[in-house]
Amino acid sequence: KMSQKTVLITGCSSGIGLAVAIKLAKDEEQHFKVIATMRNLSKRGKLEDAAGEALNTTLEIKQLDVCDEQSIRQCIDSIPDRHIDILINNAGVGLVGPLECQSIEEMHSVFETNFFGVVRMVKEVFPDMKKRKSGHIVMMSSVMGLQGIMFNDIYTASKFAVEGFCESLVVQALKFNVCISLIEPGSVVTEFEMKVYEEAEKADYSRTDPETAEMFINLYLRNSRTIFSSLGQTPEEVAEHTLQVIT
Ligand code: NDP
Repeated sequence: KMSQKTVLITGCSSGIGLAVAIKLAKDEEQHFKVIATMRNLSKRGKLEDAAGEALNTTLEIKQLDVCDEQSIRQCIDSIPDRHIDILINNAGVGLVGPLECQSIEEMHSVFETNFFGVVRMVKEVFPDMKKRKSGHIVMMSSVMGLQGIMFNDIYTASKFAVEGFCESLVVQALKFNVCISLIEPGSVVTEFEMKVYEEAEKADYSRTDPETAEMFINLYLRNSRTIFSSLGQTPEEVAEHTLQVIT
């Protein structure tokens, strides 16, 4: 039997983060100690309900806002020896629609969460992993970290930033026996998918400009295929894939 590993996950109030936290907490073979974090503890109900008996045995819920250095420090300092074996950077926000409809403030906030959120986490956890000469850092990127898609300009750029950050970091990490993994799900929650279509409709791109619409759909299908062939479309399937990545 493998020894128990401490896994910290960000953004566990819903979606993929919640599914990954539950998947790992309930994994009978690995015996993970899951620290499921969220920025707003008043949203803990859904995770608690799903966790059932795992709550306070293999799963612990803590507050952590990836945009707030102090909250990150506080959370990590509360872990015995600050020992984290696996960090899963999952927290993220989307921003969908034509560029001209978005404010610079909204765009900054996407980068603050999706990119600098990851940077803050790694900056806090990586030095400990280097000292111990072991660890694994996982990023919940996106197929949009590999290819752009219409109406996701800023979101796509934020995921490209994460991927570039990792490509550089991995060289240093390797030297210290720290593993870095990127997970690139396609469309997972259909709501997100629907929102893209809705925005396209609203902006009247899809109907009045057949060329743009066709490009949009082709891009979309290409992205979808990546996920359908490699990952799946439910948060649970992404969670299953994540388990495979870390074991
Ligand atoms: P959800 O909106 O369901 O979950 C996002 C999570 O991130 C929530 O728990 C949210 O918390 C949290 N979060 C947002 N900002 C912060 C912050 N500052 N600090 C801590 N937590 C924060 O979306 P998904 O589960 O779909 O997304 C999870 C990850 O997967 C994201 O990185 C996303 O980019 C990526 N992804 C999603 C895809 C999809 O189709 N859904 C496809 C590919 C990648 P709160 O509830 O408080 O807002």
